Amino acid sequence: MIRKAIFPGCYLQGKDILRNLGGIEELEKKRVFILATNMAVNRIIPENLSAWKRICDINYEKFSGACTWDEINRVLKIAEGGAYDFIIGMGGGKTIDTARVVARQLGVKYIAAPTIAATDAPTASACVVYSNEGSVVDYFTTSNPDYVLVDTRIIAEAPARFLVSGMGDALATWFEAETCDRSHFRNVCGGFNLRAIMSLADACYQTLLTYGSAARIACENNLVSPALECIVEANTLLSGLGFESGGLSTAHGIHDCLCNLEGTHAYYHGEKVAFGTLAGLFLEARPQPLIDEVYAFCRSVGLPTTLKQIGLEGVTNRELDAAIHPVFENKQSYLHNVRFELTPEGIIEALRMADALGHQLG
Ligand SMILES: [Zn+2]
Repeated sequence: MIRKAIFPGCYLQGKDILRNLGGIEELEKKRVFILATNMAVNRIIPENLSAWKRICDINYEKFSGACTWDEINRVLKIAEGGAYDFIIGMGGGKTIDTARVVARQLGVKYIAAPTIAATDAPTASACVVYSNEGSVVDYFTTSNPDYVLVDTRIIAEAPARFLVSGMGDALATWFEAETCDRSHFRNVCGGFNLRAIMSLADACYQTLLTYGSAARIACENNLVSPALECIVEANTLLSGLGFESGGLSTAHGIHDCLCNLEGTHAYYHGEKVAFGTLAGLFLEARPQPLIDEVYAFCRSVGLPTTLKQIGLEGVTNRELDAAIHPVFENKQSYLHNVRFELTPEGIIEALRMADALGHQLG
């Protein structure tokens, strides 16, 4: 049995750290290319470009908005001609994934600079590539970023829904890692779990319970409070290491099923993962005090606890069944990382239980 964990080279987090690019000495006098989201092109880059130019030779390009092979190849062509030493992905998960693939194809160093804390993508090695129509066409791993650079002021100024969604993604971490660990399922990087990662997954869950509610209030008021700093770390670092080196299970498996229903398309990854976590509590017969704790957390931060809150009011069992089947039939799906016999009917029952308790709590 080989236990395995993978990590980014260096994780930097703090208020205003983008102003001097995290003080990364290696960047001095290097050629740097930034792939930047709209918001970064309109705000972060104009505010900082002259300061950055005193550190390194820097160019940037606006991200199209979708991580497709067309976009990867377009950016690759632009970056190829520039003899760059570093590529920075500045934006949300898709910008970061696109820049990650470009950097690795060019064989240069990669810095993830997330502008929201909505998912745990920034620390990871995994990339999701979409078709032009928006469905997933490729999922593969490259290597973790050389640096992760998280400016908490920028996160605090983004809409609070992103931070809350990130908490939904982070909420699944301990539950999925625990399931994989106890039943000896392989984690996402292909090994068995280390105690180090189980401690991080536990810290992730405890940090959410302790600081989630205060962090949401801070973000709604654009304040970089200590609670917000703790939640940014939970959403980005603890959740990122926890899922990749701790494993995925029903929360993400159910998320994949829910994505097959059009009603959920307006909802974020973490919001659907949160509901998948709730359904997973019933699937795995977790004890009621733990279920109560998770529901209280979701309600305190504003994560969904009913099907209606993820766009599925009035969804029929037949529709749920049709959404579950393609994922269920894929034997590689994380949905199958469970320690009992799983059936589509059992998943529907768990979704209905999760919804019923959400309604009962009002
Ligand atoms: Zn996730």
